[in-house]
Amino acid sequence: MIGGGPAGTAAAVAARAHGLEVELLHFVRPPARAGESLPPGCEPLLDELFGEGAVSPEAHRSAYGNEAAWGRDDLASVDFLFSPFGRGWHVDRAALDRGLLARAEAAGVTVHRGARLSQATWGAEGWEVRAAVSDGAVRRSPAVVLIDATGRAARVARSQGARRRRLDRLVAACWELQAEREDPDTSTTVEAAPEGWWYTHAVPGRRRMIGFLTDADLLSHRGARGPHDGRWEPAPPPRVRDALERGGYRAKGPARICDASTSYLDPLTGPGWIAAGDAAVSFDPLSSQGMITALLMGREAGRAAAAACLAGDVEPLSRYAEGYAALLHEHLIHQAAHYDAEPRWPTSPFWSRRGRRPSLLHG
Ligand SMILES: Cc1cc2nc3c(=O)[nH]c(=O)nc-3n(C[C@H](O)[C@H](O)[C@H](O)COP(=O)(O)OP(=O)(O)OC[C@H]3O[C@@H](n4cnc5c(N)ncnc54)[C@H](O)[C@@H]3O)c2cc1C
Repeated sequence: MIGGGPAGTAAAVAARAHGLEVELLHFVRPPARAGESLPPGCEPLLDELFGEGAVSPEAHRSAYGNEAAWGRDDLASVDFLFSPFGRGWHVDRAALDRGLLARAEAAGVTVHRGARLSQATWGAEGWEVRAAVSDGAVRRSPAVVLIDATGRAARVARSQGARRRRLDRLVAACWELQAEREDPDTSTTVEAAPEGWWYTHAVPGRRRMIGFLTDADLLSHRGARGPHDGRWEPAPPPRVRDALERGGYRAKGPARICDASTSYLDPLTGPGWIAAGDAAVSFDPLSSQGMITALLMGREAGRAAAAACLAGDVEPLSRYAEGYAALLHEHLIHQAAHYDAEPRWPTSPFWSRRGRRPSLLHG
């Protein structure tokens, strides 16, 4: 297993539960993601995969709703109290990943922290995996199957010739802010603007995330230089600005600029490897579906790996790839409907590129 995010840990515990010996290489390239949101419905899934209490209330903040200025100037609210799944969470991503890794370890997975995959060679005997470990040494291990859960980098799959197909050029500029005082706001605020859209929500430790999503070419016109641009200050639209002003926040560091495109790997599996989570398919962050899908499909990848290794049954692998294609198809339909719901800037480059059904759906 390569990668210790939601997909890698879910795949690891599922494969272990089905009887495989599992080793997981976990490496985080700084800066780590500060905070993200888990939608209602994710907590029961985490409990099912990792055991009761996988989302600790001490480490994360409950989320009770979303507010959006989308297709209108004022905010419309969605209260999670009316959701059959109850509340969501604003999580400290580093703490969530650490917690899930600890639970995977308790379930019998061997976790190598600080081990960065440097090379994976496929041959007649299976894989030889090389990883750089913290003291600069190289660790070599054999493996029968590799699950690539390295996020958008898709480190293993791309080394085996798989290609990343991008369906748009969405990028995110994210800032982590620090407040002087506790912020009682338990919602995520989303606001559309002429050149893209913004979001903000509080995260544990009197911190707040703010993100600006736009296209890569439009961001570079604004003078931002990635991936960490210290000269660029956030200039959010009014509703997001209100949320920041209520908490008296200041930026903790430079903007982190990252790929946020909707994209998929072609193919999703190959001889001896399976891609899972963002490595396989990455979704528009507007959907907030990234982590829940990574967990669900990570579990499927772990099960498929166990069936292939222990029973020589490769049928689950083809069902896995079909399942991912269906999820992407559904995502694209919802994504087009969401962008269609914002008609205020029909001639802006960002909005005029969206809201139409992407060609993938016609193919
Ligand atoms: C701006 C933005 C905001 C988002 N907000 C949300 C949100 O609020 N809610 C939500 O559900 N989703 C959100 N997402 C999506 C979410 O972050 C991803 O879908 C999710 O993290 C995918 O999990 P993963 O395990 O597949 O990959 P990741 O979480 O990216 O984990 C991959 C891991 O592999 C490690 N790795 C990489 N290369 C190597 C290597 N060579 N060796 C060892 N390890 C390696 C990485 O360091 C990382 O720890 C957002 C995405 C963006 C871009």
